[in-house]
Amino acid sequence: MAKYWECKYCDNSFPPRNFDGDMVCSKCGAEWEDAKVLVEYDDDEFEDFEDEY
Ligand SMILES: [Zn+2]
Repeated sequence: MAKYWECKYCDNSFPPRNFDGDMVCSKCGAEWEDAKVLVEYDDDEFEDFEDEY
């Protein structure tokens, strides 16, 4: 089971970026604390996903 954070507004699964000290979605710019949702996958294909961080 793999887990990763995803933006609930734009389904962006890329890590958030730092914008003036605030973490925001790297795609739509939403506040990450508000926008992030934890997604769980059974698929083993996501095993090496964290290597991209
Ligand atoms: Zn977003």
